[in-house]
Amino acid sequence: MQGKIIKGIAGFYYVHVVESGVYECKAKGIFRKDGIKPLVGDNVEMEVTDEKDMEGNITKILPRKNELIRPAVANIDQALVVFAVTKPKPHFNLLDRFLVMMESKEIPVILCFNKTDIAKEPQIAELKEIYEQCGYPLLFTSAREEIRIGELKSCLSGKTTAIAGPSGVGKSSLINRLQTEVKMETGSISRKIERGKHTTRHSELIVLEEGSYIMDTPGFSSLYVGDMEKEGLKYCFPEFGPYEGKCRFNGCDHIHEPDCAVKEAVDEGKIHKNRYDDYVAMYREIQERKRY
Ligand code: GDP
Ligand code: ZN
Repeated sequence: MQGKIIKGIAGFYYVHVVESGVYECKAKGIFRKDGIKPLVGDNVEMEVTDEKDMEGNITKILPRKNELIRPAVANIDQALVVFAVTKPKPHFNLLDRFLVMMESKEIPVILCFNKTDIAKEPQIAELKEIYEQCGYPLLFTSAREEIRIGELKSCLSGKTTAIAGPSGVGKSSLINRLQTEVKMETGSISRKIERGKHTTRHSELIVLEEGSYIMDTPGFSSLYVGDMEKEGLKYCFPEFGPYEGKCRFNGCDHIHEPDCAVKEAVDEGKIHKNRYDDYVAMYREIQERKRY
């Protein structure tokens, strides 16, 4: 039988199997045999040891698509970066940091602006103007009024998605809208999940529907860009892509070099100045840090 680890606590792994539910599993011998530790997000093979109490053993970890260290999770397909259109107003520099972080880990991003029910049209227009140019799929939702939740659901369908963003923007409210209640009613599952509640917060996948999982990512609040190379930062801004290689200098970092195609695109309004300024700020930050 195959399933996905949605949670790991004190040597137990909770494996979600579509159709039957969540099994409490041990991973006897896996480490000794394969030399790897199971991670949340792992697709595994398991055998049931007790069907009534939903217990089992993980017998094999299937090959990982990717693996993050902080938070420790495997097989993340994409990230949903959530900000509010207003209340709180988007902090653009922070938003760009989230985007850079995902780009640097090569995680595709869906950008979601929530609370459209209390937003004014110009606020939405400004966000579109800045972020449409970057090429990220954009979604304007209201968790409160249940607007565009269906679209959001289809973006997440069949995928494992990490949700990230500052607090207060409506991430939990969106997750509540997305979650299918059915599976949680079956008693045994909620009891098994309940057991872990009092331990420290771990990464955990929430089951949305068949094959869709979402991960609330407390660990993604560390937006440290310092371990990046400053020369690599430009590749984390997808809208610079068309201009790469068109500057006068090979390896132009688009900072102070003359005849820079990226800076020209900024002057012509083809790259948004907001984004470019955040790029320069992050570049300087990495540079400062590397001096020590
Ligand atoms: P989180 O910290 O990102 O998980 O945000 P929450 O889901 O806890 O929401 C923060 C606050 O914003 C709560 O008071 C929610 O009721 C409110 N909120 C969430 N979504 C919406 C929305 O779409 N519209 C409005 N007006 N308020 C919202
Ligand atoms: Zn350049």
